[in-house]
Amino acid sequence: MKSFGYVKARTTEDAVHSFVSLPDARFLGGGTNLVDLMKLGVEAPGTLIDVSALPLDTISELPGGGLRVGATVRNSDLAAHPAVRRGWPVLSQALLSGASGQLRNVATTGGNLLQRTRCPYFQDTGQPCNKREPGSGCAAVEGVNRDHAVLGHSAHCVATHPSDMAVALAALDAEVELVGPGGQRTLPVADFHRLPGDRPEQDTVIRPGELITSVLIPASSAGMPSAYRKVRDRASYAFALVSVAAVLAVGDDGLIRYARLGFGGVAHKPWRAVAAESLLIGAPAGEDTYRRAVEAEMSHAAPLSGNAFKVKLARDLAVDTLVRLADRG
Ligand code: SF4
Repeated sequence: MKSFGYVKARTTEDAVHSFVSLPDARFLGGGTNLVDLMKLGVEAPGTLIDVSALPLDTISELPGGGLRVGATVRNSDLAAHPAVRRGWPVLSQALLSGASGQLRNVATTGGNLLQRTRCPYFQDTGQPCNKREPGSGCAAVEGVNRDHAVLGHSAHCVATHPSDMAVALAALDAEVELVGPGGQRTLPVADFHRLPGDRPEQDTVIRPGELITSVLIPASSAGMPSAYRKVRDRASYAFALVSVAAVLAVGDDGLIRYARLGFGGVAHKPWRAVAAESLLIGAPAGEDTYRRAVEAEMSHAAPLSGNAFKVKLARDLAVDTLVRLADRG
């Protein structure tokens, strides 16, 4: 591993100032992804700015019923928080489906959003990879691509985003708060991650020196039936082949009054199924409606040589999840 400098930030201002004044700086939260990538030689920062001691480790209830989750709140603590379990079970379930208990005890909310793809070619410095080394090519397009994207990919990159939590947050209309050299800004989580296009090296729209300070979960879906379901190759400690985050509320008249749907494991970013949602809202609840809506979303899929199964898997998982939520509601 290349040697690097280390700074422990005490305030967000310190952290941002250190980032812009020190060479090749990177923020360090729990380190559960970044340190692995440094050991593999994929990342080689000049300086690590440790943000784990910043006062961003609390979950607070907002006026009106939402939540503010600090960026250094650990994944385990967020999953176990009574307000999350009560109001947004989809988020708690997504967190608990990720990684292992030991990793969730260390991994942070901000770091979870910023984790990088687990594409094996990205992690192998002997392979061409446009994300790791722009212009070198993409070994996965013609290689082993069973785990890769079926939606929104490009000829430059077919990787998937690995986060479960981010899929749930996108479906909940959550927002991410950032502070950086240019001041503060707030973005929808659904717009925070990018599709690869011709710049796959850029995972998100974050700007140099910007630090995630918190995530805002709005009250709009609080208490509604919601669920996160994940299909993977083994029962734990595995990334999603396909996952679904769903919120569904059905009125007394049998019409769907609220629907949110997100997919994981299918794209370079958490995939918010806006086409499906628009067909669901106002339609009669029932399997035919769910299937029509999800098929409309999946009509944009372009599977690779090794992952056509993901399209059917995503469709069936989403329909079954909506059926179960409607039964509950
Ligand atoms: Fe790299 Fe993306 Fe291709 Fe994987 S899919 S090898 S991350 S460019």
